[in-house]
Amino acid sequence: MVKANENLAKLPASYLFVDIAKKVEAFQKTHPEKEIIRLGIGDVTRPLVRPVVDAIKKAAEEMGHPETFHGYGPESGYEFLRKAIVTHDYKGLDISEDEVFVSDGAKSDTGSIGDIFSVDNVVAVCDPVYPVYVDTNVMAGRAGTYTEGKGWSKIVYLPCKEENDFLPQLPKQNVDMIYLCFPNNPAGVSISKTELEKWVQYALDHQAVILYDAAYEAFISTPNVPHSIYEIEGAKKCAIEFRSFSKTAGFTGTRCAFTVIPKELVIDGVSMNRLWSRRQSTKMNGVSYPIQRGAEAVYSEEGQKLVRENIAYYKQNAHIIVDGFRKAGFTVYGGQDSPYAWLKVPEGMTSWEFFDQLLEKCGVVGTPGSGFGMAGEGFFRLTAFNTKENTEKAVKLIVDAFSKEK
Ligand SMILES: *Cc1c(COP(=O)(O)O)cnc(C)c1O
Repeated sequence: MVKANENLAKLPASYLFVDIAKKVEAFQKTHPEKEIIRLGIGDVTRPLVRPVVDAIKKAAEEMGHPETFHGYGPESGYEFLRKAIVTHDYKGLDISEDEVFVSDGAKSDTGSIGDIFSVDNVVAVCDPVYPVYVDTNVMAGRAGTYTEGKGWSKIVYLPCKEENDFLPQLPKQNVDMIYLCFPNNPAGVSISKTELEKWVQYALDHQAVILYDAAYEAFISTPNVPHSIYEIEGAKKCAIEFRSFSKTAGFTGTRCAFTVIPKELVIDGVSMNRLWSRRQSTKMNGVSYPIQRGAEAVYSEEGQKLVRENIAYYKQNAHIIVDGFRKAGFTVYGGQDSPYAWLKVPEGMTSWEFFDQLLEKCGVVGTPGSGFGMAGEGFFRLTAFNTKENTEKAVKLIVDAFSKEK
């Protein structure tokens, strides 16, 4: 008799965004005249920049002629894109093209990377966390059993608390696979070189691997915040880095990302670069040619200029949120090197209670921090991805509503 994947079946349904949608829908029914402003979604809104659109169109046209048609491409990406990535994103870091693997997304890559590691490894994640890291390890059978309020028995949670600037602390027990995401989603904070050095040292000392999600790298503007983990000495021996064009260049609906696995990353005599290459060429046939041409155009002079303008636009929204809330007497973190602001909810309220109040009083939708993990309770995520006009409007509504109470 056939059996289902019992690990996957253990995974509780994720209700976070479903619950939010339900609450918003119910509110809209009872207040049809009220405008809803969404500062909850982690998706970009600015359109693709012109050089990217033009490159995709040109490449699509090439696909329509026998002499310029492209069939299957190299599984790990065309040379032109890998070269552009290495020269622009890893300048001076001595990463070579065959250490870069182009894919359709950092979600797929952070979710699939476990394929090249033993199921016996102990996994450590930050709490709060981007749920992909946890859920895919549940599917793989590395998580143990789930208890409400406690989480997965075999996963080591690294609480990211206010007193530590929302940075995880080194684990006391031995862990093997450490997922780090900086600038962080959801807490919006970045990590300094000195702090990241501690993690690289831990990984080297304990023969662990760091799975470093740098999806928000393009939002970094603070000096001394590393853009790549390979800026840290020794990291090539212990870290895999994930990047994406999604938040950098508005590719959430276009799909292109990449993962870097240095050849120096060798575990028990096995090259992780070779294993991933083998895994990818078995399970995928690459990213479409027009989209890779579009991604290449992100690195053109005009592409860079325009993409940076879009990021500056989002960062301005983040500042509007942070400044507005601070003026209203709230404590708020993040928003400096990230499109996310991490708000401390008023004393005595849970994240969900604050969600309800914000919706009822202001028509503003955010994301309760508790939805990202136990240590997220008492916090609230607001995103900078709406328009400037809506962001300003939302902040004004909130400041007015909550200042009155004080
Ligand atoms: C948005 C996001 C990504 C990017 O995922 P894609 O699949 O490339 O769109 C990766 N990691 C985190 C933490 C994110 O928030």
